[in-house]
Amino acid sequence: MIFCSLYSGSSGNSIFVRSDSGKVLIDAGLPGKKIDSALSEIGQNPSEIDGIFITHEHSDHIKGIGVLSRKYNIPIYANEATWNAMENQVGKIKEENIRIIDKRSTIEVKDLEVKCFNIPHDAAGPMGYTIRSKGKSVSVATDFGTFTEEIKENIKDSEVILLESNHDIQMLKYGPYPYPLKRRILSEIGHLSNEDCGKAIVDILTGDEPKKIILGHLSNTNNHPDLAFQTVLNVLNDNNIKDGRDVYLTLADRHKPSSYIELK
Ligand SMILES: [Zn+2]
Ligand SMILES: [Zn+2]
Repeated sequence: MIFCSLYSGSSGNSIFVRSDSGKVLIDAGLPGKKIDSALSEIGQNPSEIDGIFITHEHSDHIKGIGVLSRKYNIPIYANEATWNAMENQVGKIKEENIRIIDKRSTIEVKDLEVKCFNIPHDAAGPMGYTIRSKGKSVSVATDFGTFTEEIKENIKDSEVILLESNHDIQMLKYGPYPYPLKRRILSEIGHLSNEDCGKAIVDILTGDEPKKIILGHLSNTNNHPDLAFQTVLNVLNDNNIKDGRDVYLTLADRHKPSSYIELK
């Protein structure tokens, strides 16, 4: 299995996952051209993508899906609430490429098993995903205000996890965002802070094989990559968890493909 974050952050998200035969994207929240160029940068052909799985309808997750689906005839998978909410933003999509999936369901795409789970976020039907193939699994969980038991149960056994480390609480509180937006981000259905991301990692590390955890969906305004990394590291150190021993921590890049991980 191969996992690669093409882009991650408040300005647009897309994650590529492939197995021996299946190739999927989780979200395509940048213009189609940008996704095209990121895929070719990692040696993948966009016309071979078997499906795009949507987490929720916010534009940083769906911006490119209409273009990609029409250009390469790619099926789009989302739950009914998300389809209803994004219908007007994605343009015309071929009937056969509109795939409505149930919440908490598992969908097979070639030799990939894609399982969705609920996340608490201010969108119509927000979901995270765990993708399995041949006994290995990877998870993507971003855009959630609270680290719930359901998220934990769904991601804790994955070898690779992309987890949200959205903001520094002080930067957000004293930063330029209007008060209602600050309140929304800090709410239980907003975004996960660096500190809470660290706590979530402590919660999912079970002492088995060290996991690869990628911090993603960083805010451009209320975070810095170094600050996110250091804050999470501090929480881990406080809990006697060592980066490089118990966990391998990296950051997903906002502007280019990163965290290219091969699982054998
Ligand atoms: Zn987002
Ligand atoms: Zn969102």
